[in-house]
Amino acid sequence: HQISEGEKLRKKLHNTILELKGNIRVFCRVRPLLSEDGVGTENPVIGYPSSPELSGRGINLLQSGQKHQFTFDKVFSYESSQQEVFVEISQLVQSALDGYKVCIFAYGQTGSGKTYTMMGPDVQSQKGLIPRSLEQIFQSSQLLASQGWKYKMQAHMLEIYNENIRDLLAPNRGGSLENPVTGKPYCIIQDANKNAYVPDLTVIDVCSSEEVSTLLHQAAQSRSVARTQMNDQSSRSHFVFTLRITGFNESTDQQVQGILNLVDLAGSERLSKSGSTGDRLKETQAINKSLSSLSKVIFALAKKETHIPFRDSKLTHLLQPCLGGDSKTLMFVNLSPDPSSVGESLCSLRFAARVNSCEIGVPRRQT
Ligand code: ADP
Repeated sequence: HQISEGEKLRKKLHNTILELKGNIRVFCRVRPLLSEDGVGTENPVIGYPSSPELSGRGINLLQSGQKHQFTFDKVFSYESSQQEVFVEISQLVQSALDGYKVCIFAYGQTGSGKTYTMMGPDVQSQKGLIPRSLEQIFQSSQLLASQGWKYKMQAHMLEIYNENIRDLLAPNRGGSLENPVTGKPYCIIQDANKNAYVPDLTVIDVCSSEEVSTLLHQAAQSRSVARTQMNDQSSRSHFVFTLRITGFNESTDQQVQGILNLVDLAGSERLSKSGSTGDRLKETQAINKSLSSLSKVIFALAKKETHIPFRDSKLTHLLQPCLGGDSKTLMFVNLSPDPSSVGESLCSLRFAARVNSCEIGVPRRQT
């Protein structure tokens, strides 16, 4: 791979800009209209500003004749392919091999394209960011072997549903909600370095992206069995994929420890929209709690507050090592162009715009 000097310079500049901007970025992605989308689709509610300086960064949302404009680090229209989106995150993924803690998550209402973005269909040209990231990580680790680097990679996959953690790689059908050692629900504790982790979770050593693909299929199977058992049709849980990377360079004696967390969040729709009662109400409340904890954590980090409420939800507690400090975080805000979703889209865009204006520094105290 010959990279021209110009390309190298462009990448360096791009990275410098990112460093200056802080370490949380927001990309917005609009999915195409689908045949099942509601009435009124002939009048688009989503548009893109024509000015060149906002090209690829701006988005307009029309609600009741009122235009709301937002800008993000990147805006991908319905025409953007999975490869085009991946190109924009590949540097970030690569930094996990350099020892960074990287967290990429997809936020948006159910049906807005989160799973498509993260996992994608099982078709080579349409596969999502998780399989593409893994291919890149394993390819790069092989290339780095010529410079003396040896890597050990470990994967685990879990979902958080109603504030319960399910180990998706446990041998039981449908995964497991119980720690096999204690017989109690999985909990989150801190290791010697004050990094949160889930003890006794199934952690698998992996050597190739094909191996991880097999595990991803197993995790998807566990999720669908669990969902059928709970009679749950839509994705009401957070899916967290984690790759722990330990690199050692024999020539230089350097050691790095990176983490790549890829998270498909549960739908962000509000209570009124999901018309929840009973179990559904409980679910929606749990989702709202964890998503609002996530925003509180991000805003507290941005304001460099002394108390960061990581422990308010399982999601934030678990992601604690990858949020704040010198970690790198990217949020996708996924949007549906369906006019009936315009209210939810506006909420998502407002939340994402607040996140995008955040610059996360090293917090003074993490709880
Ligand atoms: P979510 O995970 O947010 O609930 P999905 O990823 O399941 O949403 O997407 C909803 C539907 O839209 C699926 O049928 C999916 O295949 C389709 N879809 C989403 N994004 C795209 C895209 N960028 N291109 C083509 N189809 C998409």
